[in-house]
Amino acid sequence: MDAADVMSDLSEVLYTADEIAERISEVAAQIDEDYEGREVLMVGVLNGAVMVMSDLQRAMTSHVQMDWMAVSSYGSGTQSSGVVRILKDLNTELEGRHVIVVEDIIDTGLTLSYLMSNLASRRPASLEIMTMFSKPEAAEMDVEVKYVGFEIPNQFVVGYGLDYAGRYRNMRDLGILAPHVYA
Ligand code: 5GP
Repeated sequence: MDAADVMSDLSEVLYTADEIAERISEVAAQIDEDYEGREVLMVGVLNGAVMVMSDLQRAMTSHVQMDWMAVSSYGSGTQSSGVVRILKDLNTELEGRHVIVVEDIIDTGLTLSYLMSNLASRRPASLEIMTMFSKPEAAEMDVEVKYVGFEIPNQFVVGYGLDYAGRYRNMRDLGILAPHVYA
């Protein structure tokens, strides 16, 4: 699905599929360079990171492995509490591995903070974060994000893995959801 297919649901297209692909290539090249001689294990959080994980890994020239977690955060309504329940854990031991957590988007970073301390306790050789999109509040987070695709404004966005009520995940572009869709 392209933004053009659901244009009346979007107030703006922030990044086209081509712009996303170009940025993914740049980040992939940076990771190839930074980890030369070391094999990376990428850990994705389902479901949002599916698109970025598959594109990022295919854009890389080095060997890379992937594993997935599923989490649910306890919270009241739309407010994230930062307390997370692991619904599906990794199949891979992290001890001694070079791990990059791959995220679709970081907003408050509460879920990610919890996840990082959980993963750090498994004693990986190194642990970094790659996120495709980052909102302004993420800058106040206590965890450092090494790789960021795009900094975006504080608006609710959909596409490239990000959904609203289960929809728009399969849109190739990233767009701001028009208020009439959720009002
Ligand atoms: P955080 O814990 O960083 O506040 O929230 C992270 C999660 O909230 C993301 O993984 C994503 O599922 C969801 N999220 C945050 N901002 C957006 C957004 O603009 N659009 C969508 N679709 N999900 C978002």
